[in-house]
Order: sequence, then C-alpha cells, then structure tokens
Amino acid sequence: MPCIHHPEREASARCTGCAEALCPDCHVEVAGAAYCKACKSMAVKRPPVIPARMETCSQARTGMWIGLLGVVLFTHICGVVAMILGFKALGEIGRNPRMCGGGMALAAIGIGASDLFLFVLNLMSKA
Ligand SMILES: [Zn+2]
Ligand SMILES: [Zn+2]
Repeated sequence: MPCIHHPEREASARCTGCAEALCPDCHVEVAGAAYCKACKSMAVKRPPVIPARMETCSQARTGMWIGLLGVVLFTHICGVVAMILGFKALGEIGRNPRMCGGGMALAAIGIGASDLFLFVLNLMSKA
C-alpha cells in the first residue's frame, strides 16, 4: 500500500476522513486518529462528535406506567405513587444533565393527578 503523495513510500496509516493511504510524513494525528493534511484542518475545526449517552430516567418511565395502570384499574394508590415517582424523577433530571425523560415525569404527575381526580369523582358520584 503506497502513500498517495509518495508512490515510492509505504503507507503507515489511512486517513480517518478520506481513507487515503498515508506515509508517516503525510499523516497527522488528531486526538489519536490519523488524518491527511487536508482532512486534518477540517478535523481540527470540527472534532468528531462523541454523542453524549442520554439516559431516560427510569423513575419517570415507571411512574408513567403506574399512573396508566391506575387509570385502567381505577386505583388512586397508583395515582399517588405515579405522582411521587414523577416528582422524584423531575428532581433527578434537574440534577443530572445526562438524564432525560422530563416529559415522561410530567406525564406521570399528570396521569397520577387524573387518577386521584377520577377517584374523587367516583366517590362523589356514590355519595
Ligand atoms: Zn484525508
Ligand atoms: Zn507521503
């Protein structure tokens, strides 16, 4: 595998950007990856983006499902649990920038509140 710029020289690396074969004189290392000179200037301007791993808050998801279960089973206990989990999840999401699921947490609180509301309505209709 000869270097793209020096056909008489053996290439030691491939450019991460354009995959051209490069000899030690032609390749430049940026953050541990080999680049040709053309790609290096681009790589320096725009380093490879490592996506931050977002985590969905499990409490938010659990809260939402418990809330939905409460609607189906008509249980106010599920509503209370869903609201508690929803508020705890919101706190956790606020503290941890990698945590997502704020929408789910709000849904858990909303569904939990409607569980309670339906339960109260049910009690009033019986009274
Ligand atoms: Zn290149
Ligand atoms: Zn070369």
